[in-house]
Amino acid sequence: MKQSFLFTKTRREAPADEQSKNAKLLIRAGYIHKEMAGVYSYLPLGLRVLNNIIEIIRKEMNTIGGEEVLLTTLQDPEIWKKSGRWDDKDIDIWFKTKLKNGGELGLGNTHEEEITALMTEQIASYKDLPQYIYQFQNKFRNESRAKSGIMRTREFIMKDLYSFSADAASHNEFYERASLAYEKIFAQVGIGTKTYRTIASGGSFSKYSHEFQTICETGEDIIYIDDKKRIAVNKEVYDDPEVYATTGIDKKVLRKERAVEVGNIFTLGTRYSDALGLIYKDMEGKNIPVFMGSYGIGPGRIMGTLVEVLSDEKGIVWPEAVAPFKVHLLALAGVDEDIRTYAQKLYEDMIKKGIEVLYDNRDVRAGEKFADSDLLGIPWRVIVGKDTLTSGNIEVVSRADGTTEKKTRAEVLAL
Ligand code: ATP
Ligand code: MG
Repeated sequence: MKQSFLFTKTRREAPADEQSKNAKLLIRAGYIHKEMAGVYSYLPLGLRVLNNIIEIIRKEMNTIGGEEVLLTTLQDPEIWKKSGRWDDKDIDIWFKTKLKNGGELGLGNTHEEEITALMTEQIASYKDLPQYIYQFQNKFRNESRAKSGIMRTREFIMKDLYSFSADAASHNEFYERASLAYEKIFAQVGIGTKTYRTIASGGSFSKYSHEFQTICETGEDIIYIDDKKRIAVNKEVYDDPEVYATTGIDKKVLRKERAVEVGNIFTLGTRYSDALGLIYKDMEGKNIPVFMGSYGIGPGRIMGTLVEVLSDEKGIVWPEAVAPFKVHLLALAGVDEDIRTYAQKLYEDMIKKGIEVLYDNRDVRAGEKFADSDLLGIPWRVIVGKDTLTSGNIEVVSRADGTTEKKTRAEVLAL
């Protein structure tokens, strides 16, 4: 893509009311647009990053047997009344809306109820189990604290997977597989070494759930890490002796860190299948409630976390796997037509090679191109200048560590 074609512009200042580092940088770089507090639009570069994260997650969900769907945003109060979660006293972050001819609807904040009700038409026998259903879908949550940029928003895409198993044993087996898939996802997006499977409070069925927490100064959670076991304990269960009795974690070795929850996995058991009548007939023809689990990840929260933990004083630093482009090609042409022609040809050849490249062909000062490039955070900066025409050298700079190498044209095309 040519940078002159991008409708977004970089800017020096973020909105005055924006507090978080991730939103400040992402807005300044033109990745997102702030609609209002806790509500952001994704612009072309931001959408490319978000979609790269989504693709990594999708691949892993498919690998563990997930089947993708797209459930509705509008929620039928009747099924939520059955599970006892329609009342604002039970879920305090509901957005609700009214129908013209009377009656209320909800905007989905999660989808256990809808998917469980839907599966009553699909699951009848033990032969129909297990099933793993997932989606990428907008959730709406009336969050009271929306100060963390795209890490905590009132409207956000969530990957939510729901598992339907015959019993606790087969559920547990899938739960561990899902947990491993999550670890692979966090490694691929570039936060693997900073992310810990974390024991947290359980919610509806089991005593504990597992969160995936990434060490981050601006995170909202406190976790205690066991470095040897590579596992952590959330503050909310830190003082519960059972955590240590059941896991063998030694409370004395734990080190405290601030962290952000990038994903979590829950054993739901029969909480929703009981409420909504999701039962199957076992081999003897007996009616058994389906055993469920739920598994969430926030792609937007991952994107915000990457900015929080990897950016530097100059701007964003994307890991290659999620970057909007692999290469930022800068033509330092000034009025020199030969440099421009060289860069244009290199750009076309890169595209032919399948290299994802953003070409800064704009007629602006070199200093401005460098500053914008630092802010945008694309992994490899490829610079075509005067020296390129005389020596054949092309400067390649790594955004992550600033190292500079002179490469030949052929080497650049092999990036
Ligand atoms: P939190 O504890 O941070 O409020 P949660 O426990 O309510 O999140 P879930 O409902 O399980 O989270 O959501 C699954 C995932 O969706 C979270 O792990 C997180 O990555 C993401 N997520 C949750 N709430 C938000 C939000 N308001 N904005 C962006 N992403 C979110
Ligand atoms: Mg949580």
